[in-house]
Amino acid sequence: MRSIVRRCVVATLDGSGSREQRARAEENRVLIETAALKGPTRQLNILLAEDNPVNRVLAQKLLQKQGHKITCANNGKEAVQLWEQNASQHFDIILMDVQMPEMDGLQATGYIRNKEKQFGQHIPIVAMTAHAMKGDRERCLDGGMDGYISKPITPGGLAKVIEEVLTAAASLTAAPEAAAKGETMDEELLARFGGDADLLRELAELFIQSCPKMLEDIRDAAHKHDAKALERAAHSLKGCVGNFFSQGARETAQRLELLGRSGDLAGAEELAHTLEEQVAEFNRALARNIETVQQPH
Ligand code: MN
Repeated sequence: MRSIVRRCVVATLDGSGSREQRARAEENRVLIETAALKGPTRQLNILLAEDNPVNRVLAQKLLQKQGHKITCANNGKEAVQLWEQNASQHFDIILMDVQMPEMDGLQATGYIRNKEKQFGQHIPIVAMTAHAMKGDRERCLDGGMDGYISKPITPGGLAKVIEEVLTAAASLTAAPEAAAKGETMDEELLARFGGDADLLRELAELFIQSCPKMLEDIRDAAHKHDAKALERAAHSLKGCVGNFFSQGARETAQRLELLGRSGDLAGAEELAHTLEEQVAEFNRALARNIETVQQPH
């Protein structure tokens, strides 16, 4: 199936036709390959927040053509309301314009992330922004968004970012289960250490040993409302877990680091507690995994 798809695509990408035609062929290629790799596209329940009517209708139609169900919001405030009303129905993903009246995309995302903390949930949010300014991407990701697409949007670009963000979200939830079975995580982990099982074991042991002190520093700093110390300690832990596979713990550490940098430590102690649980769970999985990594002969 995939080889047939590829041959068709090559035929349209052989350099003939106008620039627009070739660009369209390239977009189709991304769409087709995504479909070929993943099988029939799952229908997603998407919340789309965009204040510009032309952009909104375009995104809506493109997503509908890809088989998804779209609910539209005209600004961040509406998006937040729809998200809260539909909590039981579960949107699969939110596409969020950044610049909007009433409540902008970053404010709406902040609100949603804050509410989600109570339930330990995380809906994937993709930022849509008009200007691909330097630092835009970081600002969106630091603001709690999971992905980023710059306007004007294209069908291929939309499909690609949605796929990426959902794949990342799925690996987050799938990781503990895979680790429990001693599968997947071995390969993922080993790959991160260039396939060197000894190096992995050595660094995993070092990490497990140094965790209590790092977590204690974070807990202390949050408790004493010491923003600078919190930023430093969370940054250290983030750097450590980032070497392994624990995206959940890394993300929480990053949120703590950003709280420290902002100087507003509201919710920091609660987050520190979440981080401790995530690190503990990760360490158990890590310990199980390094046992299963084969000893060299
Ligand atoms: Mn806008």
